[in-house]
Amino acid sequence: MSKFSDFEYRKQPGFDMNTFNGANQAIPMKTLVIHCVDPRAVDIPQAIAEYFGDEVYPGEIITDENGTRIGSTRTLFVETNAGGRAAFALETVAAMDYIFHVKNVVVVHHSFCGTTTLTPELIVKKFHDHHHADISTLFDHDSLAIMDFKESLNYDIRLLRESPAVPKHVKLYGFFYEISSGKLTEVVRDIPVQLAA
Ligand SMILES: [Zn+2]
Repeated sequence: MSKFSDFEYRKQPGFDMNTFNGANQAIPMKTLVIHCVDPRAVDIPQAIAEYFGDEVYPGEIITDENGTRIGSTRTLFVETNAGGRAAFALETVAAMDYIFHVKNVVVVHHSFCGTTTLTPELIVKKFHDHHHADISTLFDHDSLAIMDFKESLNYDIRLLRESPAVPKHVKLYGFFYEISSGKLTEVVRDIPVQLAA
């Protein structure tokens, strides 16, 4: 027990983690968008929300009469990492399914991404040169650089579909985003057969 223990849900009176069935009544999350950390890509979540038309982003925080933040109207969550790669977001997908029952996972790669300045081999070599550390086996090799946008998007959607961390009913989408015009292009989608109209 630390002085922060009172801030854990599992310590709250009446909370039973064995009967916890998700927090969707507090936050109606349904979609996870994975995109790059690049600040020029900051408008991607809003663009995806507009593309789908039935998403709420950024939404509003809901507070109770004591000012306690008890929820939000947001339906679309964001995970960012270098390049916006699916391989680095798998744990988030699994956790978001446990807490919110995620329905859609969207991968967005953007124009003039920093990960198009290098190759997987080059980042491994230069990191070794600069820091005398071997990162060659730490990460998914093909996710270290974007060599071709169509290939990287198809690779990420396939990686999500084949991963045990992604529930089989989840709908998957891959988009290319042009950072200056804000133009969004859908490149790939993978909708489970039993859900197809
Ligand atoms: Zn980027």
